[in-house]
Amino acid sequence: MVEKRGIGVFPGIVTGKAAVFRHTVLDNVEHALADDPERELREFEAAQKSVLDELHSIKPSSREERDMLDVYESMLSDPDYLALIRENIRERKYTASWAVEAATEKYTAALAALGDSYFSERIADIRDAENRLLAAISGIATEIVISEPSIIIADYLLPSELIQMDRKNVLGLLLDTGGSTSHIAILAHSDEIPAVLGLGDISKTTEDGAAVAMDGKEGVAIIDPDEKTLRSFRAKKGVAARAEKELRKGAALPAVTTDGVQIHLLSNIEGLEGLDSAIAAGAEGIGLFRTEFLVLRDSDFDDGRKDSVYAEAAKVMGNYGPVTFRTYDLGGDKIAEGMDRNEENPILGWRAVRFCMERRDIFRSQLISILKASAFSDSVRLMFPMISGSEELVEVLAFFDEVKDECRKKGIAFDENMKIGTMIETPSAAITADILADYVDFMSIGTNDLIQYTIAVDRGNEKIAHLYRPLHPAVLRLLKYVVDSAKKKGVTVSICGEMAGNAEYAPLLVGLGFDELSMSSHSILEVRKRIRTLSRESCVHFADNVLSLPDATSIEKALNEYNQRTVAQGRRYEGYSV
Ligand code: PEP
Ligand code: MG
Repeated sequence: MVEKRGIGVFPGIVTGKAAVFRHTVLDNVEHALADDPERELREFEAAQKSVLDELHSIKPSSREERDMLDVYESMLSDPDYLALIRENIRERKYTASWAVEAATEKYTAALAALGDSYFSERIADIRDAENRLLAAISGIATEIVISEPSIIIADYLLPSELIQMDRKNVLGLLLDTGGSTSHIAILAHSDEIPAVLGLGDISKTTEDGAAVAMDGKEGVAIIDPDEKTLRSFRAKKGVAARAEKELRKGAALPAVTTDGVQIHLLSNIEGLEGLDSAIAAGAEGIGLFRTEFLVLRDSDFDDGRKDSVYAEAAKVMGNYGPVTFRTYDLGGDKIAEGMDRNEENPILGWRAVRFCMERRDIFRSQLISILKASAFSDSVRLMFPMISGSEELVEVLAFFDEVKDECRKKGIAFDENMKIGTMIETPSAAITADILADYVDFMSIGTNDLIQYTIAVDRGNEKIAHLYRPLHPAVLRLLKYVVDSAKKKGVTVSICGEMAGNAEYAPLLVGLGFDELSMSSHSILEVRKRIRTLSRESCVHFADNVLSLPDATSIEKALNEYNQRTVAQGRRYEGYSV
C-alpha cells in the first residue's frame, strides 16, 4: 500500500481500478545492453507494425492532422531510419528502446543541421512519432481509450484530452502535474470529477489496473489499499454523501448575510451540459461561460451550432439572471486547431483577445452569434478576456461596434442594450480599473490569471504551487482597488476565478465589497451556506484589518481564525439541518 499526497481540486471519495496513461516515455529509456538482441529486434518490428496500424486507423479531421500523420508515417517507414535501428540492435546490442532513441537523435540532429525552418518544425512531430514507438515497445497506451469505469492516472492531461474521453468511465483523476487553478482542475470541477493533481510521480510508479482509493478533498491517493483503508474510505464516502445532501437542501435559499445583504451567486460553465447543475445549485445566472471549450471539444463547431448553443443558454438561464458569454480565451493551454503550439511563453502569448483581434473572421462570427442570442433574452452579457489596458479594450470595442453595424445592416436582431464587460486578469488592467470602468457596464475579476501574473507563478505548475497565494497582499490590494474603482464609477464588479468558489474566502470577499461571485455550480452550495452565517459589517471590519497585514501567511492565519470563530459563533443555517 502506497499513500501519495497532492493538491485536492474536486472533492469525492472513490475506489476503483487505475487506467495509467503517460504522454512521454523519452525520459525513461534505459541505456542497457540487450540480453537477447533477437528478442529486442522482434519487439521493435512488432511495435513498428502496431504503430503504423494505429496511424492508419486514425481519420484526420483537419489538414494539420493529415500533415502530422504523414510525417509520422514517412518516418516510421523510412528505410534508412529503420536500418539504423536494426543495426543498433544487431551490431551494438542496444535494447529496442535505446536503439530507437539513438537513431532518432541522429535523425533529428541531421535535420536540425539543415538549418531549414520547415525541417526544424518537423522535429517535434518526429519526437512524437518516436514516443509512439517507444510507448509501443514498452506496452504503454498512447491513445486515452478508457473502456471501463476507471481512475485515470496520467503525467498530465490537456483540456482537449479530458474533453474527448468517455466521461462516464472517468471515476477520478490523479495527475503528476497541475495546480488548483489549472484548466484541467477547472474542467474537473465543472464535470464534477474527483481529482488530485501535483502528485509528482504517480503515473510512473503505478501499474495499469492497480487498485486505487482516492479522496479529492484531502488530496490523497492510495495505491493498493488494504482492507482497513478501504473500509475507512467507504465510511468517509457515506459521511460525504450525507453532507452533500444537506448542502443541496439549501439550494433554494438566497445567499443573504445576517445583516440582510444579498450576495449574488452565479455559475461558471463550459457548455450547455453545465446548465442543469447550475439550476440545481440555485445559481442566479451564468457569470462566466467559457466559450472556448465549445471549440476545443468540437473542431467543427460551426456558425449554425454556435447560434443554437448560445441561444439555448440565453433562453434557459435568462430566466434566472445574467448569462455572461466570455469571448474565446483560446491560447495558453487551450490550443485549438490551427493555432501555434510552439510559442516560447504561451501564457504571455497569443491568447484570448490578442488571438481574436488577429483572427477577426473567427471573432466576428462569434460576436454575431452572441448578438443573435441576445435577441432571445435581455440577460445576455458579453465580456472580453485578458484585456491589458484601455487601448486594447477600445480597439476591441470598436471592432464590436463594426460587427453590430453589420448586423443592423443585415437586419439581424439583437439587444441594443446588451451589457458589456471586461475581465480583469492582468495586473495592468487591475491597476487601471478606474480607467477601464469608463468603457464598460461591468467588470469580472479572473483571479486565476490575476494571481499568476501578479506573483509571476504559473498557475498550472505544481512545483511552484506553494507560491501561488491568493491571499498575497499584492493580490488583495488589487482586488480592493478594482472594487473601489468600479463602485465609484457605478460599474458592477464580480469575481469569476476559483477564489470566488472557496467558502473559506467568503468573509474576505464580502468584506472587500463584492456582491456578485461566479463559481463552479458545485461550489455555490458551500459558499451560500457560509454567506448565510456572515455579518457584512463584521466582514468589512475584518477585511480592513487584513489589508494592513504584511504577508500571505499572516493573512491566511487571520482568515483561519476568523472562520473558526464565526462558524462556531454564528450558526444560522436555516434550511439546513446542521
Ligand atoms: C480566471 O483567470 O480567473 C478566469 C476565470 O479565466 P480562466 O480560468 O478561464 O483563465
Ligand atoms: Mg483567465
